[in-house]
Amino acid sequence: MDLRHADLFEISPISILCEDWSGVKRAVDAVIADGVTDFDRFLDENPQFFFDVRQFHHILDANRSALDLLGFPDKESFLRESRIRLPANPASNVQVFRAMVRGDTVCQGERVLHTKDGRVVPILWRASLPPGPADPQAYSRLYFFAVDVTELKRVQEALMAAQANLSHAGRLSLVGELAASLTHEVSQPLVSIASHAAAATRWLSREAPSLDEVATSLNRITASTRHAVRIVGKMRSFARRGDLVTEPMKPHDCIADAVTLVEHEAYRQKTRIDVDVPPQLPAVFGDRTQIQQVIVNIAYNAIQAMQAARSPDRRISITAAMTGSALAGATPVGAADEPETVTFTIADTGPGIPEELLARIFEPFFSTKQNGMGLGLSICKTIVEEHGGRLWAAKGLSDAPRGAILSFSLPVERAAAERAQPATP
Ligand code: ADP
Repeated sequence: MDLRHADLFEISPISILCEDWSGVKRAVDAVIADGVTDFDRFLDENPQFFFDVRQFHHILDANRSALDLLGFPDKESFLRESRIRLPANPASNVQVFRAMVRGDTVCQGERVLHTKDGRVVPILWRASLPPGPADPQAYSRLYFFAVDVTELKRVQEALMAAQANLSHAGRLSLVGELAASLTHEVSQPLVSIASHAAAATRWLSREAPSLDEVATSLNRITASTRHAVRIVGKMRSFARRGDLVTEPMKPHDCIADAVTLVEHEAYRQKTRIDVDVPPQLPAVFGDRTQIQQVIVNIAYNAIQAMQAARSPDRRISITAAMTGSALAGATPVGAADEPETVTFTIADTGPGIPEELLARIFEPFFSTKQNGMGLGLSICKTIVEEHGGRLWAAKGLSDAPRGAILSFSLPVERAAAERAQPATP
């Protein structure tokens, strides 16, 4: 390093460590020379590799910012203690190993540092590597740049909490609005049903019962019941808030947006969310906010079910695949005749849904929760059906008997376009 470089290194406001990875590179090369072709798998099967190669890794230098970040007054004390302060971090090391194997020229990752003065600092780090299948000696001075992201993380967490509260508040106020309007509107036909039923009973209990009058009362009861059903239907469409604003959406993006809204609650309830969507999947056609709401509702139900059952291992897996493909899992009867659709599946590791309830959970006001309104899934079903899709629940697969599996399909963009403009003969 010439003087100008040395100056830059010392005064850089970014923390920089200079490290010798040449011995590690030799060890990685030796594994590859032994015939290992899938290095990630090798690491999975040989977790001790991270610790075995640690002896070949040395920190050579640290600039002033790095010393400040790590809480050391001077370089010497840091270099003496660096091994304790920066223990092998498999998640970070794997990034460097992978870059070495692939010949990448940069690698980066996140980790936390435990500073000498007891702080825990999350950092983003990045390093440049020699290009191509390099001589191990080229790895003898790698520069690692680190940025403290404590503030960024704090802002991210606050944002996530705000988003989760918003979506939760959205659900609560929706339920509140619905409950208030329903009580008011439905009470009128219910009062009328009760009075016609009382009249019918009176006509029947006369010495000479008038069956004509009873029939009139029964007709009025039927009309009032239909009125009540219409009100409930109106309420449900009101709950969906406005007209459909449809647009092509990549399945992965819709899922990612929805996950952002539930991940704070998932984190609070110690639930892991895995998403697996093949990148080549075609776009579906739909209202982004409403489809997001469907995924959020189903995921919330999963979180609540696993929390209520105190499930020890709480996982939600969200996948999307072409309907009918093996990856899309079971489809309901009749689905084969539908236009081309993508199936979204949300599975959890909770108690599952008893077979006799599989169909009932979509009925309005069906709930097994103490404070449940039983409207979530019925609204989801209406939303999905308005999009030309289906929503269904399945029992767990025989090799994974636990947990609920909810799936819904949405027409792919081209199928939706054909539906909107039928071909002229
Ligand atoms: P609510 O959440 O108010 O009960 P929903 O319509 O969203 O209303 O759900 C109806 C019912 O479906 C729930 O009360 C529960 O019995 C069942 N259910 C939904 N999702 C799950 C799940 N992931 N695991 C177990 N049961 C579920």
